[in-house]
Amino acid sequence: MTAKVNTLLINAHVLCMDEGFTQYENGAVAVLDDQIHAVGDSEELNKSYTAREVIDCEGKVLMPGLVDVHTHVPMNLMRGLADDLRLDVWLLGYIMPVEREYVNAEFVRLGTSLACAELILSGVTSFADMYYFEDQVAEATAEAGLRAVCCQTILKFPSPDAASYEEALASSERLIKKWKNHPLITPAVAPHAAYTSTVDILGQATAMAQKYDVPLHIHVSETAQEVKDSLREQDMPVVPYLEGQNVLESKVIAAHCVHIDEREMHTLEKFGVGVAHNPTSNLKLSSGMAPVKRMLELGLNVGIGTDGVSSNNDLDMFEEIRLAALLAKGSSGDPTAVPARTAIAMATSMGAKAIHLGDQTGSLVAGKKADLILVNLQTLHNSPQFRNDQDSVYAQLVYAAKSTDVTDLMVNGEWLMRSRELLTVDVNKMLPKAQVLAKEIDQFLNKREQSVFSKLIAVGGAEEQESYEVQVKVKVDDPQEVINRLQNSELEILYYRHYHEYDTYFKFENPEEGWLRYREDEFIDEYGNIENIRYRLTLIGPKRERHFPQDVLLSRSRFIAPAPHSLRFYREYFAPSEETFIEKDRQRWKVCFHDIEFFINVDRLDEPALGTFLEVKSRTWSLEDAEKKAQIADDLLRLLGNTPQKSETLDYVQIVESKS
Ligand SMILES: [Zn+2]
Repeated sequence: MTAKVNTLLINAHVLCMDEGFTQYENGAVAVLDDQIHAVGDSEELNKSYTAREVIDCEGKVLMPGLVDVHTHVPMNLMRGLADDLRLDVWLLGYIMPVEREYVNAEFVRLGTSLACAELILSGVTSFADMYYFEDQVAEATAEAGLRAVCCQTILKFPSPDAASYEEALASSERLIKKWKNHPLITPAVAPHAAYTSTVDILGQATAMAQKYDVPLHIHVSETAQEVKDSLREQDMPVVPYLEGQNVLESKVIAAHCVHIDEREMHTLEKFGVGVAHNPTSNLKLSSGMAPVKRMLELGLNVGIGTDGVSSNNDLDMFEEIRLAALLAKGSSGDPTAVPARTAIAMATSMGAKAIHLGDQTGSLVAGKKADLILVNLQTLHNSPQFRNDQDSVYAQLVYAAKSTDVTDLMVNGEWLMRSRELLTVDVNKMLPKAQVLAKEIDQFLNKREQSVFSKLIAVGGAEEQESYEVQVKVKVDDPQEVINRLQNSELEILYYRHYHEYDTYFKFENPEEGWLRYREDEFIDEYGNIENIRYRLTLIGPKRERHFPQDVLLSRSRFIAPAPHSLRFYREYFAPSEETFIEKDRQRWKVCFHDIEFFINVDRLDEPALGTFLEVKSRTWSLEDAEKKAQIADDLLRLLGNTPQKSETLDYVQIVESKS
């Protein structure tokens, strides 16, 4: 008596990727509805089942579909947008500004569909995503017929789909409610990373993941800098910090885990955290090499991910599997690390466990979902074939095979590709749209690259509007005398501050750009200790608007922006042609003189050591106002026992340059 199934795949080299790594050299798989009904020898299954569709696999490898455990699929539309840059410059300088401008529901939909096509062609049947407008990712993925964990990104700052993190949390909950029982889509929540989250975000995201029993996807210890910052701010590395916030109590998918120590690995193992290893991305962004060998020894579920196309630049899982095996060997000095069979397990069964879908997919076992691929190893680059070692087929797949050897792909019992023909996604209609968008983004970036000002706006904007200053600066031989006169005068002193300032001036090929000053201000308290530090960027225009007869200068326009990133970041992002460094001790008084607020600065230049300067300045907004203030500034300077000297009404950079 024979039972009926939908599809019977016979004459295949079946790799089950089950616990015992069962293989059938002439094997078969019976598919009934969305499930694997039986796996065994071809002859046996042929006798036991009749099927609507019988496929002779002609000796191809039949194995579980691959699991891409970490990606950002809509970023397919940004392939090749910015490369060969450091992570922060790449992300904050290029990717995020473009995302703010272009990422919307339509963008996400198009990028996801194209990514699904690319994933299918490379043998991927399931993936874990993290992006904005994740509902659109879910829609496009379900339409393509792939299985995915779709995770809505939550950031502590505004993102393309949420003005606040509260909004992002709300859309996460909507996503979860909408997709909770979908056969292909597992909705989930994704606080982007510890350093882009607040305690409140981590708490609420964890609570939501637990309430709905869905995964929580997060970037963990991707760079050494992230760990350094965590040690400084939280007094502990990233994993214990997440543990302390109870994040690890949920079903966590931790992307990267490049810079984690032995203890952190034990913690991840204890909480059953799935790790996403992204070899290409980590190499390309020079993030480092994850301790994969050790994580596997400790029993962690480590899957393999492509990461987004912007940092890869493709979704080729075969390339990723090979790299995972090679990198583990190269970085550990042990060629037996991550053998081929383990690498294939990481990309299938272990990967499925890492994204918490291990009960549904990742191995060819009766009762699991029918997610499978056929791989043709009878090609030139796969020949000849040895079978003296049971594991040689895995080695063939890892070290010789290419994603183009995948011929057929099935998810949930449905064919998505037959003989390399895509059945669910029409890329021909979509590719021209992607190219139109690329052209627009090119124009946007070209325009932005035209000026330092527009580049400044792109990385966080100028906080203050354009402003002008009336200023006069003279060298003083006896600063104490100036201070005595100031204190004994009738001047109304509004406040006194003491700073230590470290200024780096960027100059550019085109002098019209002006100077960009990166300033580190150390506030010194009355006991001489550093009270706090402020970082600011000031774009100083090139023009002197007016030189008054008193030798008071109406100076250049300036835009001020907070500088949350490192000097190194700005140096790489703005790429100045020249730099000048100035270190000075500044005593500053804000005073009221003839009903006008002035700043009086007594600046001792320490680097280069050029002596002490007295500076009198006031903000101004109109020329008449400036003219009046120029006269009063001159009077104030005289009150302090000095007269303007034409040659000294300069900026520090000019002083430094004229002296050197
Ligand atoms: Zn990522």
